[in-house]
Amino acid sequence: MPVKFVRLPVFLLALGCALSVSAAGTDAKLSHEYDQKISASDISTDVRVLSSDAFAGRAPGTAGEQQTVNFLSAMLRQSGLQPGNGDSFFQAVPVISNTLDVAHSSMSAMTAHATQALKFGDDVVYSNTTTRTSTTIKDSPLVFVGYGINAPEQGWDDYAGLDVTGKTVVILIGLPGGSTGAPFLTGTPGVSYYSRSSYKFEEAARHGVAAALIVHNARESGMEWDYIKSRYGGAQFQLRHEDDPEPDPPIVGWLSADAAKSLFAAAGMSLRDVRDAAGKRGFRAMPLGDAKLEAVIRSSVVAGESRNVIAKLPGAKYPDEAIVYSAHWDHFGTRLGMRGDNIFHGAIDNAMGVAGVLEIAAQFAAEDPKPDRSVIFFIPTLEEMGLLGSKYYTAHPVVPVANTVVDINFDVLVPVGVTSNLVVAGLGKSGLDEWVKRAAQKQDRVVVGDPPGMIDSFFRSDHLSFARAGVPVLYIRGGDKSRDPGVDGMALWNAFGKRYHTPADKFDPRWDLRGIVQDMQLVCDVGEALAASREWPDWNEGTLFRTIRDRSRAGAEAARY
Ligand SMILES: [Zn+2]
Repeated sequence: MPVKFVRLPVFLLALGCALSVSAAGTDAKLSHEYDQKISASDISTDVRVLSSDAFAGRAPGTAGEQQTVNFLSAMLRQSGLQPGNGDSFFQAVPVISNTLDVAHSSMSAMTAHATQALKFGDDVVYSNTTTRTSTTIKDSPLVFVGYGINAPEQGWDDYAGLDVTGKTVVILIGLPGGSTGAPFLTGTPGVSYYSRSSYKFEEAARHGVAAALIVHNARESGMEWDYIKSRYGGAQFQLRHEDDPEPDPPIVGWLSADAAKSLFAAAGMSLRDVRDAAGKRGFRAMPLGDAKLEAVIRSSVVAGESRNVIAKLPGAKYPDEAIVYSAHWDHFGTRLGMRGDNIFHGAIDNAMGVAGVLEIAAQFAAEDPKPDRSVIFFIPTLEEMGLLGSKYYTAHPVVPVANTVVDINFDVLVPVGVTSNLVVAGLGKSGLDEWVKRAAQKQDRVVVGDPPGMIDSFFRSDHLSFARAGVPVLYIRGGDKSRDPGVDGMALWNAFGKRYHTPADKFDPRWDLRGIVQDMQLVCDVGEALAASREWPDWNEGTLFRTIRDRSRAGAEAARY
């Protein structure tokens, strides 16, 4: 899973540099023969190799990337799979990073009578998302757009009749009615994508704004101001806008609750009143009096490149339709000054998931006859930097997203041995529930949703990129209820929580991997069933992702007939 706050490894300096690690030497030494069946020993071997010191924490743009992608392509080829991207197992992912020059950047709100300076860090945080090193915003009217949501399936549009081209929108985090209110999206339990800052920025960008600022609220966002501040404190990674299916507005940021309060007060409004108004049907966006945004934003921009790894098994009957398995290969590399050995081994995050994909790949490759639909084994980069490799892929897929039946994603699978349950993040969102329940039944396991404290995990790994492109997704988290009464699965999950995103996420030869094998057999079963079927499981009615899928599929039909 990605960090919420990325304290950066130094990898970017190396991005784009020519790397000179020898491929041949690596591959020969590390290859091993796979069992015909999914096995704990295969998984153990792959996790041990991928998380070893030689892979140096698998940071994009470093020698660790070269080691990793060489190993993965060698293993996939050896299993008998074809390159997934033309004649290559790789897909180049261009990426940029922006670091704000705080000392030479400024932002303020001007009215006819006064100027409110917005101090970076205290009142506001912001970031440039373009490749420009200097952006000037002048006389950009500030407009309050409530929760900034356009949900046609709910008959809700905060931008209705509004032209905010070149303007600066001020947006509330969360959902109308608040997190404790009635669910805004019918049929969608838990948190909705409409509540997220990434959605709000994307929607603002679709309306051509110059800048988008979210009003901080600790309860609705689940993040303290200091945390948001730290997130904007270092280099910000993104795809180039031309590669990005949903680019952000040129300038994005957050207003502190206090700064927002005084901004509204200067316009003769109260934040509390406008929040109430924005939570009710019939809300209309409104200008913040005559306030206009003025800003000069300077940043250093560095361009680089990393690689997704893609293999495929062409379908025997319907090669243009695909089942995708995914698990990110990247992690944080090395960092000086950490306790331990300075290497972020990323054994569970996410060498384990990658090992799972390799096992399923080998299993499919050995099958005879071949599946009717194609199966894609997708091992993306730059997940830890904001799901960038998978986002790039969905804009540049090897099988159109409209014809992609499902993405089955693994990230952070904790070995707890054989379990009686299976946690599926985002359970209740799509027709895939039935498929996974059928497969779980064969193992006498119960399918359950995320534990309450982990409800937002659905938004934090690569399957989200597929969901945003409309593709139904299955994100399994493994089980937490051990069949062995002496083993407390949840305690093992919690113990891993302390090692998560630290150098202590290491391979352990004592792991009981039988539960991971069980999980991989289960999702292999789901993929086989889908690959042999003519069905298209879909998002539930009345959801954002369903709206996107309908649009996408309609285009696919038009393109095919
Ligand atoms: Zn991860």
